[in-house]
Amino acid sequence: MRIARFDGGRIGVVVGEDIVDVSAAAGVTPGEWPPVGPVRLIRDFDALRPAIEAAAATGAKLPLASVRLETPVPWPNKVIAYPVNYHAHGNEMQAGYRATNQGFFLKPNSSLSGPADPIVLPHVPGREVHHEAELGIIIGKTARGVAREDWKDYVFGYACLMDMVVRGREERVFRKAYDTFCPVGPWIVTADAVPDPQALEFKLWVVKPDGSRELRQHANTRDLVLDIPGMVATASAVMTLQPGDIIASGTPQGVGPIVAGDTVHIWIQDVGEMTVPVVQGTEGATEVFADAYVPPIVKQPLG
Ligand code: MN
Repeated sequence: MRIARFDGGRIGVVVGEDIVDVSAAAGVTPGEWPPVGPVRLIRDFDALRPAIEAAAATGAKLPLASVRLETPVPWPNKVIAYPVNYHAHGNEMQAGYRATNQGFFLKPNSSLSGPADPIVLPHVPGREVHHEAELGIIIGKTARGVAREDWKDYVFGYACLMDMVVRGREERVFRKAYDTFCPVGPWIVTADAVPDPQALEFKLWVVKPDGSRELRQHANTRDLVLDIPGMVATASAVMTLQPGDIIASGTPQGVGPIVAGDTVHIWIQDVGEMTVPVVQGTEGATEVFADAYVPPIVKQPLG
């Protein structure tokens, strides 16, 4: 099942090229604040599923193109992110560590945005803002101390995720915390509809205003250094995971700068695809980024 959020906090099931509003069956109130309905929906999904499926089968279909898709879980308990989780990305960044011996960091929930929300570049002269294409993993149940072999019991589904970053050597969280620096979408595909999340091909292109497309990233989740069971086990060793928590699983090689006017297109096998425009914002200047920095990236072949 593909579960989307749209048009001011409505919940929809995507059927082909259409979407059916199932907000009532999902128990989600559009426009609520804080927007925690999706978290409750994920917690209660097993019980709600029959009613949601019935609503999806009988409700009015709207063309997907006629609605505004929003980030599926806008108010999770936390967004967990694994750094350097593909060897070739570690090589391009000349990083001597990997997620297996570094652990995770957190992105602020306020950095979440949706497929229709532009990435707003901060005003940081002398710096590059880079895309990182990642598989987003949505946690389904409250859990602590999950054993590797039990990981599937705690994953609700998957989404496309971009971990945007200002390159530099300053605190990683600071550089990854700007508003709109965590696009997630276009929907969540429930885990039962993703046959093998540990062998998902994925790609990211940057599209220029003239329509030309550059394939920047192309990889497969089978090459994760810390695999999905390991990510669930590692995060839950430290913190209680909650329904709706999002794991950014790490980016492969091919990261690079985006500029205003670009469109970033991410596709993940069995999950979906979304295109996110890039605009220049006026905010974001900070003395932290006073010194110019160009990342010394060593180009690696794509997967
Ligand atoms: Mn990342």
